[in-house]
Amino acid sequence: HENLLNSTISRVEGLIDAAHFKQAIEEDETKSEIYQRISAVLKEPFGIRNYSIYEIVPNTNHMTAFMVDGEADAPCRWCDPQILVHAESCRARRTGHTINSIGSPGICYAFQPPEDMKDRLHVCIPIIQSGAVGSVLQLVIEKEESERVQELLPYLNVYLREAAPVIEAKRLMDTLRASNLTDAMTGLHNRRFLEEFAETLVTSSQRRKSQLSILMLDLDYFKMVNDTYGHDAGDLVLKALAKTMQASVRASDLVIRYGGEEFVIIMQDTGGEGADMVAEKIRAAVENMKIQLPGAVLQKTISIGIAEFPQDSDTFWQAVKYADVAMYNAKESGRNRVVR
Ligand code: GH3
Ligand code: MG
Ligand code: MG
Repeated sequence: HENLLNSTISRVEGLIDAAHFKQAIEEDETKSEIYQRISAVLKEPFGIRNYSIYEIVPNTNHMTAFMVDGEADAPCRWCDPQILVHAESCRARRTGHTINSIGSPGICYAFQPPEDMKDRLHVCIPIIQSGAVGSVLQLVIEKEESERVQELLPYLNVYLREAAPVIEAKRLMDTLRASNLTDAMTGLHNRRFLEEFAETLVTSSQRRKSQLSILMLDLDYFKMVNDTYGHDAGDLVLKALAKTMQASVRASDLVIRYGGEEFVIIMQDTGGEGADMVAEKIRAAVENMKIQLPGAVLQKTISIGIAEFPQDSDTFWQAVKYADVAMYNAKESGRNRVVR
């Protein structure tokens, strides 16, 4: 009974470690930080020395070695380099299954260790992202270690399962950053992003039989800031506003710099009073925002228009137009207010 208790305790501790790991990677900023963290876990507590992480390059048949034997950018040492240009020759990549040579020696032709290490074994674990193999983790082990590693695999898989969606999210973020769809000054999505993403947004909302709330936001008398304090002060206000808006919505909501000092926020699965409340929260937060300038503190207000798709209109872009009309209404009726 004592053995059973000890083994239960050690399993629970293992799961707690995995939960801490998950929290840590969610707060990591880049994909490479996540890979580094997986690497650290492999070293300690798993005690594995030779491990490599390969990544499939999206939309190509290429793989790149993110790290080989724990070293970043090292050359591919254990596999036929063919896998780098013809990813299908990586068995884990092709099948989406764990390829384990413990018990099945010679299972993968592409595993080609150096002459003096022919007796090494390998376990290659695909990391699935969006239903396809996104990366492959390869462990290379000595015969004497095989039993221990075999027992570790289920635990290691817990870590990889936690990591997969987070890696996927970072990868999407990286692509997005690289593809000109963000506004450099505020870090928000730009108008082009909304134009490209609108169809996906509408389809996914229709599939879930859900709705989209569209807020159109425009700073009040913003030109005055530039005229009185200069363009740099104006830029500071826009950056502070971007932060305030992002802090007021969910991570799944989209904050878009639509034009100079005009913004659009798209909220998924929030409508009616819920959307009104978010808009009012943003309006109040902007009113309370204090921007420190040398020798002055600036306070601005914002006018917000709301429309909903599909409640207000059959097409998404018409609903955006209605949000714009509502915003102008807010301006005309005195500014610093929300109009539906
Ligand atoms: P209201 O919307 O309340 O009617 O008044 P407004 O003064 O905000 O209206 P208007 O649309 O005429 O002015 C918008 C100003 O925003 C004009 C432009 O100089 C400024 N602007 C647009 N983009 C930027 C930017 O990137 N940086 C700075 N500093 N100013 C910008
Ligand atoms: Mg404007
Ligand atoms: Mg304005």
